[in-house]
Amino acid sequence: MSEPLVSRMQGFGTTIFAEMTALAVRTGAINLGQGFPDSPGPQPMLERAAAAIQGGDNQYPPGPGVPELREAVCRQRAQRYGLAYDPDGEILVTVGATEAIAAAILALAGPGDEVVVFEPYYDSYAAMIALAGAVRRPVTLRPEGGRFTFDPDELRAAVGPRTRLILVNSPHNPMGTVFTRDELEVIAALCREHDLTAVTDEVYEYLTFDGVEHVPLACLEGMRERTVAISSAGKTFSVTGWKIGWVTAPAPYVRAVQTVKQFLTFTASAPYQRAVAYALENEMAWVAELRKSLEAKRDRLITGLEAAGFTAFRPQGTYFVQADIRPLGFADGMELARALPGRAGVVAIPSQVFYDHTEAGARFLRFAFCKQDHVIDEAVARLSRLR
Ligand SMILES: *Cc1c(COP(=O)(O)O)cnc(C)c1O
Repeated sequence: MSEPLVSRMQGFGTTIFAEMTALAVRTGAINLGQGFPDSPGPQPMLERAAAAIQGGDNQYPPGPGVPELREAVCRQRAQRYGLAYDPDGEILVTVGATEAIAAAILALAGPGDEVVVFEPYYDSYAAMIALAGAVRRPVTLRPEGGRFTFDPDELRAAVGPRTRLILVNSPHNPMGTVFTRDELEVIAALCREHDLTAVTDEVYEYLTFDGVEHVPLACLEGMRERTVAISSAGKTFSVTGWKIGWVTAPAPYVRAVQTVKQFLTFTASAPYQRAVAYALENEMAWVAELRKSLEAKRDRLITGLEAAGFTAFRPQGTYFVQADIRPLGFADGMELARALPGRAGVVAIPSQVFYDHTEAGARFLRFAFCKQDHVIDEAVARLSRLR
């Protein structure tokens, strides 16, 4: 049989997460690869979802989302960031941030258009840019002063006459960088100068550490009008399986994104939307505790990785630590990630799969710390055998 997959999707065969999770299952290794929490979200929120199902809330909700979730998101953006959006027309509820990213890219970038992304990038960006027939222009994040950032000149050089979009993920998966106002201003200035649209992925907006605060790009001068902001309940409330996300943007952008979204899924699951609306209004103290707990887990994993011989970078947010494998005498993260379950009984993700310039990421492994303490402790004890 000839290859049934369209050419623009070739090369996107199996995600690294599927490969590494299968390896973890086959070998019984501890899975610090995929980033999902192993503790439940706030109990009253879980009960709301169950009660919504039992109460009969099981038919198509409105396409843009249930009104109480749209209102809760708008209140949250206003209170936390001072960003005012109209719940009727400036917000769209989606099937996770993943669908929001897909619909935004498909709606806003066409064949031959260029999309600037920071690499390493979240894997769905590359697939959706390819599906749109657009071209990605990666700008590499490199270590500087213990965190990862970009060179403003490289960013400026990536923008050309065909550039339509710039994708900004902060807090950044997998590097853990939370862009500063100065870094965001470099991006904003380029957007204003070249009339670009920014698509921001803010799914880790609450999961920042050491007092570092997330600043939405839309808060910068002249940016609200050209930013399509995406977030989601999955990371904030430890329910990555619920897939409730949202887009906030000026009405013409929301209409464009909804034009695509309505034919992907039409609408997102009603009972989970109700439960997330409740949580945004009532469970932010729970989220503050989650943030503290994740910060301690980050430190626990870093201490263990360093004791095992890696050089670990301290992320300012997210679920992930980057570990440089060279001090242990390794050079290729892909090779080590494939050998790690056999050699140490642990699974990690080779960061190089999220780069076009794979050489820039070859030395990094991504470890997730959104796991129970005893899981982290057992993983680092096993990793200490690598030396
Ligand atoms: C988890 C994640 C997503 C996907 O969010 P969902 O709401 O589960 O679809 C998008 N972007 C980044 C950077 C993520 O880490």
